Amino acid sequence: MVKYYSTRSDIEPVQASEAVLKGLTSDGGLFVPDHIPALEMTMKELSELSYQEVAYEVMKLYLSDYTEEELKNCINNAYDSKFDTEVIAPLTEADGAFYLELFHGSTIAFKDMALSILPYLMTTAAKKHNIKNDIVILTATSGDTGKAALAGFAEVEGTKIIVFYPKNGVSPIQEKQMVTQKGDNTFVVGIHGNFDDAQTGVKKIFGDKEFAALMDEKGYQFSSANSINIGRLVPQIVYYVYSYAQLLKEEKITDGEKINVVVPTGNFGNILAAYFAKYMGVPIHNLICASNENKVLYDFFKTGEYDRNRQFVLTSSPSMDILISSNLERLIYLIAGRDAETNAACMAALSKDGKYEITAEMKEKLDEFYGGYATEQETAEKIKSLYEKCGYVIDTHTAVAATVYDKYVAETGDTHKTVIASTASPFKFTRSVMDALDNKYSEMSDFELVDELSRIANVTVPNAIEEIRTAEVLHNNICDKEDMANIVKQYLHI
Ligand SMILES: *Cc1c(COP(=O)(O)O)cnc(C)c1O
Repeated sequence: MVKYYSTRSDIEPVQASEAVLKGLTSDGGLFVPDHIPALEMTMKELSELSYQEVAYEVMKLYLSDYTEEELKNCINNAYDSKFDTEVIAPLTEADGAFYLELFHGSTIAFKDMALSILPYLMTTAAKKHNIKNDIVILTATSGDTGKAALAGFAEVEGTKIIVFYPKNGVSPIQEKQMVTQKGDNTFVVGIHGNFDDAQTGVKKIFGDKEFAALMDEKGYQFSSANSINIGRLVPQIVYYVYSYAQLLKEEKITDGEKINVVVPTGNFGNILAAYFAKYMGVPIHNLICASNENKVLYDFFKTGEYDRNRQFVLTSSPSMDILISSNLERLIYLIAGRDAETNAACMAALSKDGKYEITAEMKEKLDEFYGGYATEQETAEKIKSLYEKCGYVIDTHTAVAATVYDKYVAETGDTHKTVIASTASPFKFTRSVMDALDNKYSEMSDFELVDELSRIANVTVPNAIEEIRTAEVLHNNICDKEDMANIVKQYLHI
């Protein structure tokens, strides 16, 4: 039985289902499994399995208090025809790298990989624990989590979902996707502030004991769909295992051959999943952490100091415009030798002074990470050059990763084969992508650009985009960051 500990103190560990339900630990920390389990099958064996079967093989090792039937049920409900390809996460080879396309779900960003299963994991957990309250999902989004969580939880019985996004910090298509969300149990609010403000506001509400008591009295309890939830992290490990197995199956690599993984990073959830995959037994050489101009993580890997005291930059890869990478806390805890006290001191310093420094001993354990960043201009140039070379169009986030990979190769000369996590469809960031390809597109409307992209890339317009062409705006709420708690109360009538 895997138990989940807090990153911040030695409180009683809980089982997986409880960790999924709670999201955060009661001391404000994150849940971490007591060990990273090893895969029970060889890569050869895994290479014969479907995505859903690999998902079961990986997830059963972490979610050990779910029965086989419960877990398979969750998996089969999540990874079905909502995805526009049977393989769920296909690999595309372009210019010497393998792009792991994680954007074939219903909202065309990689968040779907976890958020299409989280509602099932959560409602299953609620049943197991005889929870009578309705679960209220409170989410801060930099653009993609919001829509993916809304789509996952819409009309799910016994749940409500409230999403806060930075009013001027998401792409037009991202915003339209969210404010047109259907479902009586959905609520979307734009805040005057950036993503970090939204995330801080949500964490504050979660930490408010009086609020929790009021909620309980009225038949509600909060949970989190943010990437700090272990129910997000675990499903993300699956595609790293799956991609290695697929490369082996297609004879692109030999058994045991090490690969690099490049991840465009914001909240550090996706790359942390790759780290877990590595320690489960996937032969991974380096984990390449790619940032945009908000390069806190690049500086951290270089110096060992995490310092959020800097200008927040709005970039063309908004889902990575983050100065507080929440999931890094799990890595800090692990490299501190699972020492909650050391981690808690770092997090207290981060909250008080906006920065902390790790010890030399801890920094040594980060050798397998390489931090890099891409400027706005480099990102745009990469979109254009890759398209001109291969006819393959990538989105801005993926282009940040591809740029950092180029820099990594130039700097190290490393020749390991490499998987680049492709985290969004170019159709989600059409304007930035088309502007990068040619400035002649600047006069076109958003949907004219969509059609033009479809034509030049020779890819059909995804359903997620077709849907919002004519969809009605159903959410028109804006609030100040100080008013987030009040608007939650209003919506719930408490
Ligand atoms: C969320 C997101 C990221 C960042 O992922 P993290 O797990 O937060 O590091 C990168 N690209 C896209 C398109 C995203 O939606």
